Amino acid sequence: MKSLLLFALFLLNCAIHKETPDVYICDSGKAPRYHYKSNCRGLSNCSYKIVKISLNRAKKEGKTLCAWED
Ligand SMILES: [Zn+2]
Repeated sequence: MKSLLLFALFLLNCAIHKETPDVYICDSGKAPRYHYKSNCRGLSNCSYKIVKISLNRAKKEGKTLCAWED
């Protein structure tokens, strides 16, 4: 029973490490930045849809962290 619990914790641990944080981008097609906060100043003048994507995908698309983020 104890080993089963450890196994469950192991799986949970893996799931946490595999997950990458989500970031927000302005879906204009050419926005070069990604944002951690959907209410970031850098997104406030976005006139397109704000979409949530994974950090990995944002990096793969060549986006860089917004200058307003800390
Ligand atoms: Zn930002």
